[in-house]
Parts: sequence; structure tokens; C-alpha cells
Amino acid sequence: MSELFQEEVTWFADILLPVPIAKLFTYRVPRHLSQEVQIGSRVIVEFGRGRVLTGVVGKIHENPPQGYPAKYITEVLDPAPIVTETQLWLFQWIADYYMCAVGEVFQVALPSGLKVTSESRMEWNPNFDRPDRLEEAEQPLVQALQEKPFLTYPEAQQLVPAGQLNALLKALVAKQAIILYEEVKERYSPKKVRKLRLASVYTQVQAAMELLDQLNKHPKQQAVLHAILQEIGIHRLSDGQEGIPKADFLARHDLSKSALQTLVDKGILESYEAIIPRFPKPTQEDTSEVGLTSAQAIAYTEILGHFQEKDVVLLHGITGSGKTEVYIRLIQEVLASGAQVLFMLPEIALTTQIVTRLQKVFGTSVGVYHSKFSDNERVEVYRQVLNDELSFVVGVRSSIFLPFSRLGLIIVDEEHETSYKQFDPAPRYHARDVAIMMAHKLGAKVVLGSATPSLESYQQGLQGKYGLVSLTERYGEAKLPRIQLVDMRAERKNKTIKNDFSSVFLDQIRLNLAGGGQTLIFQNRRGYAPYIQCEVCQWIQECPRCAVSMTYHLRSQELVCHYCGHTDKPPRKCPACASSQVKTAGVGTEKIEDDLQVFFPSARIQRMDLDTTRSRHAYQTMLHEFEQGAVDILVGTQMISKGLDFDLVRLVGIFDADRMIHFPDFRAAERAFQMLTQVAGRAGRRSNEGLVLIQTKNPNHPLLKKVVEHDYLGFFDQEIQERQAFHYPPFTRVIELTIKHPDFLLAEKMAERLARALKGILGDQRVLGPEKGLIEKIRNKFIFVLWVKLEKDRAQIQLAKQSIQEQMDDVLQDRAFRQGQIIVDVDAY
Ligand SMILES: [Zn+2]
Ligand SMILES: [Zn+2]
Repeated sequence: MSELFQEEVTWFADILLPVPIAKLFTYRVPRHLSQEVQIGSRVIVEFGRGRVLTGVVGKIHENPPQGYPAKYITEVLDPAPIVTETQLWLFQWIADYYMCAVGEVFQVALPSGLKVTSESRMEWNPNFDRPDRLEEAEQPLVQALQEKPFLTYPEAQQLVPAGQLNALLKALVAKQAIILYEEVKERYSPKKVRKLRLASVYTQVQAAMELLDQLNKHPKQQAVLHAILQEIGIHRLSDGQEGIPKADFLARHDLSKSALQTLVDKGILESYEAIIPRFPKPTQEDTSEVGLTSAQAIAYTEILGHFQEKDVVLLHGITGSGKTEVYIRLIQEVLASGAQVLFMLPEIALTTQIVTRLQKVFGTSVGVYHSKFSDNERVEVYRQVLNDELSFVVGVRSSIFLPFSRLGLIIVDEEHETSYKQFDPAPRYHARDVAIMMAHKLGAKVVLGSATPSLESYQQGLQGKYGLVSLTERYGEAKLPRIQLVDMRAERKNKTIKNDFSSVFLDQIRLNLAGGGQTLIFQNRRGYAPYIQCEVCQWIQECPRCAVSMTYHLRSQELVCHYCGHTDKPPRKCPACASSQVKTAGVGTEKIEDDLQVFFPSARIQRMDLDTTRSRHAYQTMLHEFEQGAVDILVGTQMISKGLDFDLVRLVGIFDADRMIHFPDFRAAERAFQMLTQVAGRAGRRSNEGLVLIQTKNPNHPLLKKVVEHDYLGFFDQEIQERQAFHYPPFTRVIELTIKHPDFLLAEKMAERLARALKGILGDQRVLGPEKGLIEKIRNKFIFVLWVKLEKDRAQIQLAKQSIQEQMDDVLQDRAFRQGQIIVDVDAY
């Protein structure tokens, strides 16, 4: 053995794998791949028996793993890393902070098109020579395999009776009649189109003109060539042709298909396949300046001023104050300096208007990262950011995982929105908080914007940790709408309520219809009725798997559980007392829609909720119709509250404010104030005559008063005192532990044991509960909840998290709780 060979180092790589195990796995780097394995590159490895996974290299080192022999990395997928070191750092930070496995972060961070799956395939063994040993039952598979090069598992399943495939495959493999293997398949597929171009011998102007003359005798062919030259532009022939998409070329010019084919056959035209980006490259930007009002200009200057010393600025701008114009100016500034910008929105589907506005200013150079986009489209945005071809991305919470390298600014619009927090599954991260972390790491600035800031952010602003900038007047001529509470107790007393509509409500809708204004009606419950109930014995239909009533949906004529999706037919008779007096109770959006149609037969009414907006474009279409004035009344859930800018809405009606306020959660008041203010803010955005009506049985409630007075600061002062008195965030951090078990008593036992252990370590006053879940049972699992409240001391929180993890592991390792589950939610919302 030569000395040189002995000195050669064996390299190992720690790989992030998309599995919920809190560690990296060490693999050995094969010599022939030692150049290609780099930090951040995707590799294929074998994990467990026969499972093939894509991972990303997190670390390269010389230390073999302890306790197990390292397997070799099978393959390297990319010539260059696709995950940056900043991203790797961020994944680990999220895993540590939100108490989850780094693999779980990795799982949500990359679009699934960048992950590779293993797929079983089967193939006929060409050397098999004992057909006499094959059984009758195996014939369908054998025949199919002899006709096709291979079968996938799902294809094979179609061919044999249910449940028999595994046994048949096992037998065929044992007889060596077939070969089973794992095909590693990349899910991303580029988008291709067929294009036409002129063969290269004719790309000189002279040659092209001569050719056109030669075709005099074939007028149809001549017409085709003429159209091609027209589209390419004759003077651009020699610049290298772009090619013309074939799809509607013939139809566009009304030309003959056979003439085109003849030109292709003669070698004059070429028909070829081209890969096209799903998002066209930047063409032309409309760099026209956005005019700012003096209030907006002051806000803009103040933001820049704060950025001299602070990394985060909270822009508190009332609804309709024109925060977007301020954002646009900031974005222009940052892009001009050569840095990247990320603009985050709570849900893009709901904010089409903002994207459209941004595209007007920034043209096609805006990348959109969107949950309703296909995975291929997301891979494309990811790659464009990675390759530095895209400087400006608008996206939902997962856009925080894009591979930015020159980030200059993150805007988190509607920063108070709960949809920035991922609830399920892990990582249960808050995208706003992660954005601040990421910006800090990359030296970028952050603007948080909202008309109703979260208490956390506003307090940071007051304490001077964030810059605080306010926009307190509405844009242009518009004034804030008048908000009026409708006392439902008085209406009930006077018997003026019709199907849950107060007389005030109905009168104002009638007036508004007559005046040609549009009305929004807000009710945060979809379906027709939240219950069906027996009028004789009060029986209510509950979901068999969850401890909640089932919602009646009239359109689909079924009962639906909104927690697990279970559906049922509504009973004709009460199953408890056999009475046929089974009626719906409560009000959902479907019922409001139907009732309004009865009250106002000629009004054009539309409903916007989860049920009517499932398809990709439904939301946009509906919004467009509403903007065009084709709809008089729009009934909707919280979907209609978010960032929508409607010119003609004069009246907003809020159905049931009480339910929001009395929700048993320490954040209920904050949520209710935000929701009511945001919905109210849709009225009167372009005129002086906005009116908002709120139906309530409790018109003296202090929170409603603050909503009526548009008094965010008053609300903040009141609420922050409560939070301080009861040691809730933002004064503490809350970690929520949810314990689930299919057996009620075991769930309770688990929760009590965990609570006891944590109280012993952290002190009684820091651990609250256990209490039964707000909904005691979901999907046949009973739920108990514990809350750990911690002072804001980083070192202490770190230690507490460690103890929580240890105690959780301890409980879960107990065989008695085998079927149990504990979910940790840090900064639970
Ligand atoms: Zn009954
Ligand atoms: Zn259910």
C-alpha cells in the first residue's frame, strides 16, 4: 500500500432528511463523488431498508458515526448546491426554537418538486424459462409485464383483485419471474411547448425573400411563410430566432394546416420542442414614480430614518390609509440598490389585488410564491431566486424559506394575521418572527404593516425596540366609516327580528340597494346551520369522531364535521325520541345568502367562503365580478376581511360579534378587535358615506366601544394591562402542550403526569392545566392541554425547553401511553 493512499482522507457527510427525527444522519462520501458532494447539495441516500430519500448535505467532516457503520451516499443530484448555508442555519434555528426536528423544517421548506421519491417498479425477467411454474392468478400481471417494459405499483394494483398484489409479487419474485426495483424519479418536469422557426439556411433577409418568391405557385404555403416572417420580424431574422409558439399560430392567421406541414417536410420550417420558463423573464418595468400624499411621504421618510438605527419598523396605518404606496416606494429604493425584496402576505389567494398592483409597477419581474400554484411553478421561483434571476418575490409564509442571498428588505403585510403561524404539522413556526430572524442574519431590514398590529409588535414599537410609524388618515377623499351597534335585545323585545336579521340591518340594506351601493355581510361560519336539533328532546347531531356538532350544508344536502371532514345524511327523525321535529339552528353563510334572496328577490347576491372558492380561480373570478358591480351583496367569512379594496362598498353588516368576543382564549379580545376593525375597514374606501352595522346582545361591551371609536390605542392600553396582570404574552412566552390519546382516562393520566413533572421542575406558577381541550375529542382522540408560561429570559427559556423535551420523551416512552401523542407549540396562537 502506497503512502499516498494511506494518507487519503475518508469523508463523511451529515445529511438532512425529511423525517421527523431530531438529528442529522451521517453517510460516507464515495471517493468518486468527493468533488461533487458539497454543503447544500441534494443527494440520494438509502434510509432504512429499501427506502430511498433525497437529503441535503448539512456538514462535511472526517468523523465516522458512533455505533453504526455509515452507508455510502448513492448519488449527487445537483452540480451546485441548492440550499444555501443561510438556509441551513435558519432550518436549525427553527428546529431549536420551535422544538421540532430539522427534517420537519426541511420537509416544508423545499417545494416537493425538489424532493425525490422512491417508486416501486416491476419488470419481466428476460431470463425466466419456467412458464410451467406460473399460476392462473398470476396471469394478468405476467401478460401485462410481457407487453410493457415495466409496471408501477399502482398500475399493478389495477390488474389484480384488491389485497392480493403483495402475495402475488412475492411469489413471482421467489420464482425469479420478475424483478422489483426502486425507480428514483424527480417530480419536477419542465414546461415544454412546440415552436416553429425558419431553417437556418433561410435566415438571411435575401434568402428569405427569394424563398417567398419561389413559393408563388403555392399560395397557401406562401401565406404560411409570410405569416412566420411577419411574426419573427424580417430584420430580426439573423439575430437568432426566438421561435413562434405553434399552439394557436394557424388559428391566429387562419392558415392551412397541410401547407404548414408541407413546409416542415420540405425542410423550410422546423418544428421543435422548447423548454419555457413558467414565469417569463423580466421584460420591461414601469418605473413611473408612485405619487405619495404628504402623510405617506412623511411615513416613508420616517421609516428610512428609523432604519439608520433599527432593523424593524412597524407601520401602523389605519384601513384605507394607503400603506401599499409606501411599500412600493421602499421596494423601488431597495431594488435600485441591487438588493432583493421579499413581500409577505397572509394568503395570496385573498390578496390578488395587491399582487396586481405590484405587477403594474414592477412588471413581470415580480415572482409569486403561492400555495395555489402548482409545485412546478414553485420550483421555478425557487430556482430563479437561487440563480439570482429574481430580485423581488411576493409570497405566503413559506416564501421565507426561499434561498435569498442579497436580501435587503422584508415586508410583512397584515403582520397581525394568524395565518402567518403554521398550526399543523410541525414546524409550528411564525413566519413574521422567522422573517425577523432571517433578516437579522442577512443584514436586511423589516417593515411590519397593519391597521391592527399584534400586541407583541406594538409593544416592541412603544418600547423603542422597533421603529414605530403611524398613518392616521385615510387616503384621498375617504373618511373612516361610521360604525353603529345594533342592540339585538331591544330588537328581540320589539319583535322586529326577521330570521336573525335586525330591522336596522334590513332597512339599511334596502336603502343601499336603492342607491346602487354594494353591501358586504360578514358571518364567520360557513354552511347553512351550525346545528341540527330535535325540538322535542333537544338532541343535537354530533360528529361520531369529534366532540362537536355537525354543520348542515344545504347545497350538498349533508352534515359535515368541520374538524375532521366526516359527512353524514341528515336524519329524517330524531334518533333519540323519534320525533320528526328535527330543525336547523344557528346561522351560517348559506342561510344568510338564502334569506337575503327571499327578502330582496331582485338583488344579485354572491357568497364567498371556503365552499365556493375551492378551485384555483374561483376567488379571482368572484372578486372581479364584485369589482365590476355585477354583485349587489357579498356574503362571506373572514375571507372578505383581508386586505380587499372595494370602491363601491357603502354598507358592511357584521352578524354575530358576540361569539368572537366570548371565545375562551386569552387572545380572543385581540382577535375580535382585529377582525371587526378589518371587516369594518372595507366600507367607504372611496367615498364619504361608509356605514358599518354590528349586531350584538351586549352593546355596552368595552371592546365594541373601542371598535366603534376606531380607537386602536385605547384598545391596546386596556388589553395590555390585562395581559400584564395575568402574565400573558407579550410579557411572557407561552408554550402549549397538547396531549392526545384514543382513551379518555389515559389521555388524562398522561396530561397529569406531564404536568406534575413540569411543575416540579419549573414551579407551579409556570405550568397551567391540564385542562380538557376546547374541543374534547377530535378524530377519536381525547385532548388535554397544558400551558407553560415563561419569563422572557433567553437562557431560562432554553433550559425550560430542554426540560419539556425530556419530560415529554419520558412520558412517551412509557408503554402504557403507547398510542399517545404530545404536540408542542411554542408561542402558540
Ligand atoms: Zn328528539
Ligand atoms: Zn369530526
